[in-house]
Amino acid sequence: MKILITGGAGFIGSALVRYLINNTDDHVLNIDKLTYAGSTSSTESISNNSRYNFEQIDITNVRALKSVFESYKPQTVIHLAAESHVDNSIGSPEEFINTNIVGTYNLLEESRRLWFSLPKKEQNLFRFHHVSTDEVYGDLGYTKKLFTEQTRYDPSSPYSASKAASDHLVRSWHKTYKLPTILSNCSNNYGPYQFPEKLIPLIIKNALSGSGLPIYGDGSQIRDWLYVEDHVRALYLVATTGRVGETYNIGGHNEKKNIEVVTKICNILDSLVPLNHGSYLDQITYVEDRPGHDIRYAIDASKISDELGWVPMETFDSGLKKTIKWYIKNQGYLKKNV
Ligand code: NAD
Repeated sequence: MKILITGGAGFIGSALVRYLINNTDDHVLNIDKLTYAGSTSSTESISNNSRYNFEQIDITNVRALKSVFESYKPQTVIHLAAESHVDNSIGSPEEFINTNIVGTYNLLEESRRLWFSLPKKEQNLFRFHHVSTDEVYGDLGYTKKLFTEQTRYDPSSPYSASKAASDHLVRSWHKTYKLPTILSNCSNNYGPYQFPEKLIPLIIKNALSGSGLPIYGDGSQIRDWLYVEDHVRALYLVATTGRVGETYNIGGHNEKKNIEVVTKICNILDSLVPLNHGSYLDQITYVEDRPGHDIRYAIDASKISDELGWVPMETFDSGLKKTIKWYIKNQGYLKKNV
């Protein structure tokens, strides 16, 4: 199968590209603009494989996209390219509107054009898989509820609103044009090659460099954490065996308060790279909360587990330990990406 991946130089996209090259016979074309968040170092281990190709392309550039679709003729598109950091979306929302909404629209249109030109048999096999987030569902507050695929969209930030808009476009291209689309909405990921603006790599980077460990508000916000390799296994299953027109929620059943996550990181660092005096916990500082900060996200992943047989393989403790060991070994990655 020929798969077009967008955003394959980013955190999750690169994990997916590495998974596809190492575990399947599929051919992969990775298109990525290489923003500050993307790096070809994340795909270096597979970049010489003859089934892998990379092109530096901005998904808001229609002409470049057209040329890629015409020459490569993908059988499946897995769309991950996005501006993904909530704080940036508050300061400068424009790029989020351009990439996340207009970029998705461009990909849908190019996919529709290609799909329409295919013979019936190939049309039936074509898939457009849109990778989205649980943040589109908004805030669960201090309830015991979980996000299901039926939960009403109620995004809080320009980031989540732009992802919600792109999700609506994808569903409408299926309903209106019958383009074979599938959506997945995942909880917070963690693992290697995550840009150190996000909580877990930021805390590891600051801890190792002796800087403050900033916690928004009182640190009581709850997120549902999933190891990135569990996510990419789910993505491949959804793209290859999921039902067309459906949405699959993906999550790790690992709800943790931010302060618990930071405390766990400090405890693991204390045991792996102990300080001469005291603990990494002493570096924690509390900073003013993010505006519109949602209190709790949590995913009900029973549909993907019942229908597609997916379950996460990593617990939060095992995944976090692996992740911290990776960043300790690859401190050059943290230093390069500041
Ligand atoms: P990331 O920020 O690490 O990577 C995004 C990639 O997209 C980068 O390589 C960047 O260069 C590329 N990109 C950005 N704008 C582009 C453009 N205009 N044209 C082409 N490429 C462009 O993000 P991530 O954490 O890997 O997230 C990937 C996807 O998964 C996003 O769609 C995000 O919404 C979704 N998601 C992320 C999480 C998470 O916890 N990180 C959770 C659920 C869903």
